[in-house]
Amino acid sequence: TYRALRVLKDDQGSRAELQTLPLSALPDGDVLLAVTHSSLNYKDGLAVSGRPGVLRTHPMTPGIDLAGTVIEDASGRWQPGDAVILTGWGIGERQDGGYATRARARPGWLVAQPAGTDAHWAMSVGTAGFTAMLAVMALEDHGLTPGSGEVLVTGAAGGVGSTAVALLARAGHTVVASTGRPQEEAYLRDLGAARIIGRDELPALSRPLEKERWAGVVDTVGGATLAGAYASTRTHGSLAVCGLAGGHDLNATVFPLILRGVNLLGIDSVTCPPARREAAWARLARDLPAARLEAVTQTRPLPDVPALAAEILAGRVRGRTVIEIG
Ligand code: NAP
Repeated sequence: TYRALRVLKDDQGSRAELQTLPLSALPDGDVLLAVTHSSLNYKDGLAVSGRPGVLRTHPMTPGIDLAGTVIEDASGRWQPGDAVILTGWGIGERQDGGYATRARARPGWLVAQPAGTDAHWAMSVGTAGFTAMLAVMALEDHGLTPGSGEVLVTGAAGGVGSTAVALLARAGHTVVASTGRPQEEAYLRDLGAARIIGRDELPALSRPLEKERWAGVVDTVGGATLAGAYASTRTHGSLAVCGLAGGHDLNATVFPLILRGVNLLGIDSVTCPPARREAAWARLARDLPAARLEAVTQTRPLPDVPALAAEILAGRVRGRTVIEIG
């Protein structure tokens, strides 16, 4: 048997409860895993709280991230005892995810734990940190170099935002952190932000082209914040669009694209191809060692997840949360 946090749905609505289940309840997948750690992302908050749009069927084990060891792999690609990381690919959305002591997965979904790192580190990175890495790589692929100018991170005190600030600062960029929590200024400066601005400063004044400010943008907020950042991005600058914590609409014109050559870049961590995944995890291991993530990370046990889910949706969780499973 194994233990799992299950989200159930019936006439009374949706609820999350810890259950003991037979291994036969796991989904298909050649690899059987012993899960030791998972993490808490905004998407997990939505799933555990029963908000629509994340869980495709019920009952379901949420948790879009997991780290642990291989117990068996029918395909022969992984050996028992291999330490692996799994993020995205629909776990915790379309099939059972990381909030359980056992999981099943396809061999091609897994990434080997980088040398010198452990499962707790991997989950302090998690989907949020992995997404931040993909965003930074996308900006660099489109020409962002240190010295190009100020790089804006929105939702900076959140999981994706905090990691993006740390990664950009580590790469030598001048980071401007936008936050609705001015009390987190010291935290953001410690991560490497050169300047902190208030959330209210960003929305555009409804002009399609604002004064040029940002050489690059990592946006986790969407909505009016993204529209404002987009209208203020410098000529040939880029925006890596990651999230919708502030709204999913984008009210914008083509002018920044056609008059400034601005690049609007989409980031999707769930379907990111394997080679790109491995490159991102290798760079995370190099640039964000456990010591640098300590200040960003809290560690909590699995039974705390329902309460934490409400907190992250309310925007009250700072940085990253590792969930201890095993
Ligand atoms: P998180 O820890 O909750 O961070 C979100 C941050 O956004 C909050 O900490 C807050 O930052 C800011 N925020 C929250 N509500 C806001 C509002 N109403 N208006 C403006 N800002 C607001 O969540 P996360 O796990 O980092 O995820 C961030 C976003 O990225 C989510 O939308 C998530 O779904 C998305 N995401 C996408 C991918 C992908 O593959 N594309 C992967 C991971 C996450 P401050 O307190 O600093 O203002």
